Amino acid sequence: MALVNPDFVEEVKRSDRFDASACMNCGVCSAVCPMGIELLPRKLFRYVLLGVKDKVLENVETIYSCFLCKLCEVNCPAQVHIAENVRFLRYYMNKKVFKI
Ligand code: SF4
Ligand code: SF4
Repeated sequence: MALVNPDFVEEVKRSDRFDASACMNCGVCSAVCPMGIELLPRKLFRYVLLGVKDKVLENVETIYSCFLCKLCEVNCPAQVHIAENVRFLRYYMNKKVFKI
């Protein structure tokens, strides 16, 4: 069962590196992604904003499969800085989950 984790929301807010609040879930990013990544950013970023940490952890592979090519970002009508958000999620996973 997925639960909202308020501490996770606060941690992300404090970082100042993750910002996907402008995302309107249009799906352009998924349509242009060369990896065919359906989850990133529109669903996974939503999980982060809502604090559904379990869902984020379930999708660790997706976070690491992104090329950081920014094709999604240059086409995003809301100018979400997608690649930087992905970099933050990797940093978070490395530090807090894998402890490396
Ligand atoms: S293209 Fe931008 S606004 Fe549209 S779903 Fe992706 S991140 Fe959100
Ligand atoms: S940066 Fe590239 S690989 Fe990563 S989600 Fe965007 S389009 Fe896909």
